[in-house]
Amino acid sequence: MTSARIVRGRTLSFRDDPRRDDAVVSHDDGAVAVRDDGRIEWSGPYPDLPAQFSSTAIDHFPDQIIMPGFIDAHVHFPQHRMIAAPAEDLLAWLNRFAFHEEARYGEAAFAAAAAERFLDKLISHGTTSALAFSSVHKVAAHSLFVAAQRRGLCLITGKTLMDRNAPDEILDTAEGGARDSADLIARWHGVDRLRYAITVRFAVTSSEAQLRAAGDLYADNPGCLMHTHVSESAGEIDFVKQQFPWSRDYTDVYDHFGLLGGNSVLAHGLHLSERECQVLHDTGAMVVHCPTSNNFLGSGLFDIDHLRAPGRPVKVGVATDVAGGTSYSMLQTLGEAYKVAMLKGRKFTALDGFYLATLGNARGLGLAGEIGTLERGAWADLVVLDPAATEVMAARDELSESLEDTLFALMMLGDDRAVRAVYIKGGKVHGKE
Ligand SMILES: [Zn+2]
Repeated sequence: MTSARIVRGRTLSFRDDPRRDDAVVSHDDGAVAVRDDGRIEWSGPYPDLPAQFSSTAIDHFPDQIIMPGFIDAHVHFPQHRMIAAPAEDLLAWLNRFAFHEEARYGEAAFAAAAAERFLDKLISHGTTSALAFSSVHKVAAHSLFVAAQRRGLCLITGKTLMDRNAPDEILDTAEGGARDSADLIARWHGVDRLRYAITVRFAVTSSEAQLRAAGDLYADNPGCLMHTHVSESAGEIDFVKQQFPWSRDYTDVYDHFGLLGGNSVLAHGLHLSERECQVLHDTGAMVVHCPTSNNFLGSGLFDIDHLRAPGRPVKVGVATDVAGGTSYSMLQTLGEAYKVAMLKGRKFTALDGFYLATLGNARGLGLAGEIGTLERGAWADLVVLDPAATEVMAARDELSESLEDTLFALMMLGDDRAVRAVYIKGGKVHGKE
């Protein structure tokens, strides 16, 4: 149990997409009041703090921004050691680095130690929830659930399904993969703050039998997510076309096997056609923008306006995609998303970015009301950001005249050095004094 407390400072939260009016809730001298059970009881201007909290302990962060902890909507737990490993493109990168490293996660002790290091990294970067890929091994996903449960985290993961086109040591079978997934769902889905994602690596590494089995699992477990990749690189898209010659396009493969729905989360979506966007809109799936990864692997430039075109807007999230991504920091990720938007001639404001990294991702993961907000009843998973964390940032901060100015500089210049404190369920788990 966490003890009640007040966290006071400049609060920021969203009640909706900031492209709509009155979506931003911010107080220069604000406060978040946390109940004994770790949920938010009240948030608002500090002078309006209800009398019932008059004797509650206060953590005061003058000039710091207190907001919901970041949500990373797509990150790979078993790749955490191989960040910044270069290769000519996605398929070469997987073959040269990712598959070999992931093969180690079949060892229980190795996976358990890695899970702790991975969660330490998320938290030190201000990320309090994630939808994470694991490896093909049942024990790896189990280890991550164990570590996340011990820390009281809201975390979603699953054993990766992959039964072809990768080294033998990281392949399962259609039947074995489905059985392991079902076992993990029974053991972990809905336990404390943990949820299960039926995890198809991507169409390249699954047979039709495996995709069919994954679709059956998704239909049989309506609370679970479906997590995969789509339309990331040109070579990958060609490969999918060769393997599924009957498909209209990449998205059609997932649609055909019943893998698209309101709980489906697909990373990348860089080269989606109008038809594919329509299907993703109709099914309610979310596409996750992973800019540092896309730039690092030269995969392409995400077109946010194409995805969100009026008439058939596709739900969009944002994520690091470590270790294709080059930073655990959602601030760095938002800064890179801004640059990608500039290269595409699109507009991406700081408010767009901070919304996506909190409430936007929460909505896409089906966790609205639970995380990504400072509203009453949500879990008090908080990040405290210092807009003047470095000399460069401090100089820039002197010129900021508005909240949006401050947030823009934070997303362009900030990283884990700007994370002053992190709270999980109202308990401080990371903090610089
Ligand atoms: Zn990925």
